[in-house]
Amino acid sequence: MTQSISGQRCAEPEPGPGAGGGPVVVIGAGPYGLSVAAHLRAAGVPVQVFGDVMGSWRHAMATGMFLKSTPAATDLSAPVPGGRLADFCREMGEPELTELTPIPCETFVRYGMWFTQRYVGAVDPACVMAVERAGAGFVIRLTDGEGIRAAAVVVATGLATLAHIPDDLRALAPGGPGPQAALSHTSQHTDLSRYTGQRVAVVGGGQSALESAALLNEAGADVEVLVRASRVRWGERPQLRWQWTQRLAAPPSPLGSGWVLAAVCRSPGAVRGLPAAARMHLFRRALGPSGGWWLRERVEGVVPVRTACHIEQARLTGGGVQLRLAGTGGPAELVVDHVLAATGYRLDVDALGFLPGPVRQAVARVPGTQAPRLSGVLESSVPGVYFTGSLAAPTFGPMLRFVAGTGFSARRITKHLTARTGHHHPPV
Ligand SMILES: Cc1cc2nc3c(=O)[nH]c(=O)nc-3n(C[C@H](O)[C@H](O)[C@H](O)COP(=O)(O)OP(=O)(O)OC[C@H]3O[C@@H](n4cnc5c(N)ncnc54)[C@H](O)[C@@H]3O)c2cc1C
Repeated sequence: MTQSISGQRCAEPEPGPGAGGGPVVVIGAGPYGLSVAAHLRAAGVPVQVFGDVMGSWRHAMATGMFLKSTPAATDLSAPVPGGRLADFCREMGEPELTELTPIPCETFVRYGMWFTQRYVGAVDPACVMAVERAGAGFVIRLTDGEGIRAAAVVVATGLATLAHIPDDLRALAPGGPGPQAALSHTSQHTDLSRYTGQRVAVVGGGQSALESAALLNEAGADVEVLVRASRVRWGERPQLRWQWTQRLAAPPSPLGSGWVLAAVCRSPGAVRGLPAAARMHLFRRALGPSGGWWLRERVEGVVPVRTACHIEQARLTGGGVQLRLAGTGGPAELVVDHVLAATGYRLDVDALGFLPGPVRQAVARVPGTQAPRLSGVLESSVPGVYFTGSLAAPTFGPMLRFVAGTGFSARRITKHLTARTGHHHPPV
């Protein structure tokens, strides 16, 4: 799919009355960047958005994937009513999505494009290479070397550049992981059918691992999933109607049912106020790896899954990749052609190459992590630099890892920036 929305770049925007002059620059055009840009624009704050519209959903996910979240938890945040996924489907004349309809990634991408046209406007597809401090504001350097001034910066770059591969596996790809090497990360694939007829070990026990395994199997690969946990966890099939007794016992929320999830979704701001230990517990434990309910029948009893096992040694041999496994099932050896690491992402400010060393060093971290420590309005310790999306999850809880958190963060950032830049007109 080609980028249908691109923007006029204003190299020297009118200085705003805000702290450093220039517009607010949003880096990233995924659900979080688009939502905050929509709110800023509606509030009359000059805003310029850089990134590939719904880029991660087009270039970092395999064809045939579905969203794990339910339709009600998958709305981007529009400043006025009418911008929900259901509104998009209605306007396109597409069937209504119920809680029992897995959403194809392709539908979500089209929704994001539609949302952009309606609420955001021009998006510049340029990649931001550097965010330099300049007086009270910033200069944003783009791929072509051009620099534009910004009063403030919202980092909404999602999980790009944060892919995590355990060190033990890295040796399998001396030239770097990738689809053509013996080792790759799930984020490096759009088409898993390239492994048809090959032996593939998928490492991980979450949705990415399990859905990749299903797709590989359906494409005719010889696949085995290696899971560290003692069992694979599956999501519960949602209910279309909840009885009040069920609601009381386990209230539904955008992230699933239960009191803890309902509380963290209702009030991400309160999560920030929790004692650090409780917040870290939430960050590490809430919503551990699991597969979507609708995926279960494509994996269980269909694809070999080895649980309670870890890779003790991985090495390249003439005949492929030799994996020495250890675990409760005893030692074992597996020889495959390719290892697909579905090993998640590491929230690390130092992996954001567009933030120069001095800026990164000035960004205070959430203790025990490399994620930015954020104020209640998602501003980092560098005044004027805001973080939204997954990088904000260690501060505000698990909702910020999902599309469901876009409204909370877009509203908070917009309120603060409206006051800061002195721009405001009533939402249109
Ligand atoms: C496999 C997978 C499945 C998922 N499924 C779900 C799901 O079902 N439901 C759910 O709610 N969440 C899901 N998530 C989480 C998902 O990542 C987020 O919910 C959502 O995409 C986050 O949006 P975002 O805007 O923060 O980041 P992204 O969607 O990743 O967007 C990042 C944007 O930043 C841009 N960008 C990056 N670097 C630069 C740069 N230097 N300069 C300019 N632009 C840049 C990209 O082009 C892109 O536009 C899933 C994640 C993964 C990895």
